Amino acid sequence: MLLFRLCLKNLKYNGSMDLKNKFCPKPFEYLDIHFVEGEFRCYVCCPTWLPVSVGDIGSKGLQKVWNGDLIKEIRKTMLDSSFLYCDKLLCPEIQSGTLHDKDYIYKSEYKDYLSYEDGHVPHGPKIVYFSEDRTCNLACPSCRKDYITLDDNLFDHLKGNRDKFLPDLMKDVESLNICSSGDPFSSRLYREFLFEFQGHVYPKLKINLNTNGVLLTSEVFQKMSGLHKNLSQIIISLDAAREDTYRIVRKGGDWPKLLNNIKALVKFRKQGLIDHLQLDFVVQDHNYREMPAFVELGKRLGVDKVYFQRISNWGTYAPEEFKQRDVLNPTHPLHKHFLDVCRHPLLRNPIVKRGNLSSFIPKAKREKVYDFLKSFKILRKVRKKVLEISR
Ligand code: SF4
Repeated sequence: MLLFRLCLKNLKYNGSMDLKNKFCPKPFEYLDIHFVEGEFRCYVCCPTWLPVSVGDIGSKGLQKVWNGDLIKEIRKTMLDSSFLYCDKLLCPEIQSGTLHDKDYIYKSEYKDYLSYEDGHVPHGPKIVYFSEDRTCNLACPSCRKDYITLDDNLFDHLKGNRDKFLPDLMKDVESLNICSSGDPFSSRLYREFLFEFQGHVYPKLKINLNTNGVLLTSEVFQKMSGLHKNLSQIIISLDAAREDTYRIVRKGGDWPKLLNNIKALVKFRKQGLIDHLQLDFVVQDHNYREMPAFVELGKRLGVDKVYFQRISNWGTYAPEEFKQRDVLNPTHPLHKHFLDVCRHPLLRNPIVKRGNLSSFIPKAKREKVYDFLKSFKILRKVRKKVLEISR
């Protein structure tokens, strides 16, 4: 049924990127663990873009999930470039045209994946997301209807299970991401993990944090000293450039405190304690007018990137209400105005990551030049081949 719905949705894919011969390495190295209806469901990409669980790591264990029938089936759809299980309208890689050709993959670090024709992968996951706990200090309407906090029983259950699958999971992992389900500093499960983490045991491991930023004060940052050497990215969701809008889209947040925390993180970034600092913005009717101001804010604060993302309905909106939020839908009464905002020169600033808004925000001149040079390179290769054959 899910596959049928995806096929129907994918019919709307406008083909802004020709997927023939394209490849995505994610299902060969990525595992995102959620706790849903009593199961530790695993996903091989962000579940919004590839909404198929490949199994319950809690009951089956890592090995059976990582090379189970369904995950192998999904990997085969990367190898045949059909991307059957992917939501082509929401996937930022597809929308922004960043998937590579297989010819390129053959020469890259991913080349072995092309030889796993039956979908079996001999190593464990390299990129892991902890997303079992949905606890958060905010209750953003795009994410949940009310505040969510783990009770003690559930905490023990989640911790007990994680302790069981952690040793197996950590064997090949190169990047650990916490978390895509709530806030790492509001959640006791993640907070304790981060404060107690001994980075020297995993010297090559990179840790990335996704947070709303409100609880990530300088003091909290210092408490994570055991992992400072592992810290790679910090991504903070704001969804606004002004306090009044922030209050609507990030219910329970604290704008002045958040800005102070970001300023402190920028200092840590300058000291080399963080590799990459990014601000995220989920676009909807309440905030799309502030997209240029958000770029301005990112520049003023001195972060590396600002990232735009399309709003999705995670079941928190009734269909009619979601239609009202989703200005990216061409039938929305404000859609034309949204397109005007997308043409603002600030949105072509190098700090902007267009994500799955790539078909709405026009490319900057430098990107067009890059595309032209890339095609020129391809033409040169074709010419060389033709000359070789004709000799
Ligand atoms: S949804 Fe996109 S990023 Fe995810 S596996 Fe498919 S192509 Fe790759």
